[in-house]
Amino acid sequence: MQRQCAWCLRLMDNIGEPISPIPVPKIYKATHGMCKTCGNLWLEQAIQGTEPHAVARPLVLDAHISSQY
Ligand SMILES: [Zn+2]
Repeated sequence: MQRQCAWCLRLMDNIGEPISPIPVPKIYKATHGMCKTCGNLWLEQAIQGTEPHAVARPLVLDAHISSQY
C-alpha cells in the first residue's frame, strides 16, 4: 500500500517520511495523510499565529470532491 501526503502530494513511507523529492500525480489507490514535512510546516504556522488553514487545506481532498461530484 502506497502512502501519499494529501498536502504536498509527495509519496511517504509508513512513518510519514517523504520518499519522493517532488510531488507526484495523485494516486487514487494510495492512503492519504500528512507527511512529517507538512506536519512541521503546519505546526510552525500555528505557533507563529498565522492562518493555519492556508496550509492545512489538503490538495488531494479537494481533488476528490471536484472529481466525484
Ligand atoms: Zn507533505
